[in-house]
Amino acid sequence: MGDIAMSKRKFGRELGFHTRAVHTGNDIDKETGAIRRPITMANSYALPYDPSDLNWSSAGGDDDSGAAQNLYTRNGGSNQQYLQEKLASLSNGEDCVVLGSGVAALSGLFFSLLQSGDHVVFSSVTYIAVYRLLNDLFKNKFKIETTIVDTSDLDAVRKAMRPNTRLVHIETPGNPTISIADIKAIAEITHSGGALLSVDNTFASPYNQRPLDLGADFSVESLTKYINGHGDSMGGAIIGKRELLDPIRSQAQVNLGGVISPFNAWLIMRGAVTLPLRMRQHNENAQRIAGYLESLPSVRFVSYPGLKSHKGHSIAVSQMSPGFGGVLSFGLKADHDTHNRFVSELKVITSAVSLGHDESLIVFLGEKDERQYLYPEEFHGGFFRFSVGLEDGEDLIADIEQALKKTAS
Ligand SMILES: *Cc1c(COP(=O)(O)O)cnc(C)c1O
Repeated sequence: MGDIAMSKRKFGRELGFHTRAVHTGNDIDKETGAIRRPITMANSYALPYDPSDLNWSSAGGDDDSGAAQNLYTRNGGSNQQYLQEKLASLSNGEDCVVLGSGVAALSGLFFSLLQSGDHVVFSSVTYIAVYRLLNDLFKNKFKIETTIVDTSDLDAVRKAMRPNTRLVHIETPGNPTISIADIKAIAEITHSGGALLSVDNTFASPYNQRPLDLGADFSVESLTKYINGHGDSMGGAIIGKRELLDPIRSQAQVNLGGVISPFNAWLIMRGAVTLPLRMRQHNENAQRIAGYLESLPSVRFVSYPGLKSHKGHSIAVSQMSPGFGGVLSFGLKADHDTHNRFVSELKVITSAVSLGHDESLIVFLGEKDERQYLYPEEFHGGFFRFSVGLEDGEDLIADIEQALKKTAS
C-alpha cells in the first residue's frame, strides 16, 4: 500500500486542515501529466512476473520500489487508496479503510473484531443499522453478548463493562436525538476494561471532531453524508491504527466484498476537498436555526449541542470545534398529522432521509420508531431530524416561518 503521507508537498511544516483537504491524496498523474489523478474504472491490474505467491486474501502488496501493487479492485483500487490517504490525514489517523457504505464500514468493523462469546456495549442512540446488527443479528446468529446504555451517562457505561467486553461503540452527536457522549472519558473506561472504543463521527465530520485525538481506537464515517456532501454517492470509512485495520481490510473488504466502486471513491474525493468550507456554513446555519426554533412558542423542544439548553453542551464544547455540525432535532406542540402538514408546506427544505447534503433535508420520525423507549420523554410525541444545508440562513428561516403559519391556520 502507498504510504499514508503527502510526500510531494512535505516541506517540514505541518499542513493545516484546509490544505490537506485540498491536496492530500491528489498528485500529478505520471502518465498524462494531468494535475488531477484520474478515475481508474478497471477491476483488474497487471500481475507481477511471478504471481504464484500472492496472498489473495490481502489488500495487495508492495512491489520492489515500495509502490502499491494492485491486483483486483475488490482487494483495493487506486481511487480507494487516494481517498484513504485524505481521510487518514483529516482524521489524524495512521491508516484508513474505505468501503462501499457507512453500514459496510460498521458491520465490517463488528464482523472483523468480534468472536462468539465477546461482549459489546453500545449507545442507546445510534444509527438504526447498528441497533439491528448488534441487538439482533450479531446477538442471535453469532452469540455476541450486547448491552445497550445511555452513553451520556458515564456511570452507566462503567457498570455495563464485563470481563469479556471487547468493544464499546458510541455515536456522538447521536442519530437521531443528537445526544452527546464524552469520548475522552469513555475511552478511559473502555481501555481500563481492556476493550476497544469505536466512535461513529458522521454527524460531526473530522472538521468538527477527531475521536482518535481523544483516545478512540476507531473513527467511523458514513462518507455518504458530510464528507461527500453532495448527495450523489455512498461510502464508509474506518480510520485508526494499521494493525487494527488490516483484519477489517482482508475480512470485510476482500472476503465479505464490501468494496467501494472507483467512481464513488472519486466523487467522494472530489466532495471532500470542500469539506471545511461546507462545514463552516452548516455549523453557522444550524446554530442560527436552532436558536430561532428555540424562540418559537409553537416549538416543543430543540436538541442541538450548540445550544446552552442541551444537556451535553459543555462536553460538546470541550470536544467539538469550531462548531457543532449541521443536524438538529425538534418537535412541535402539535399532533402527529400537523407535523406531516408542516413538512408538506416547506418550499426550500426537502422531505427526505440522509443528511449532510448541500440541500436541507428534513424527516419526520413518528411515534412508531421501534426505539422510542430508549429516547428521552420529549421525543416520544414524534419529532423531526433536520439536516441544515448550505442555503442562505434567511431563506431557511423564512421557509419554516411560512410553513408554520400555513400549518397553524
Ligand atoms: C447514514 C449513517 C450511517 C450509515 O451510512 P450509509 O452510508 O447510509 O450506509 C451510519 N452512521 C450514521 C451516524 C449515519 O448517519
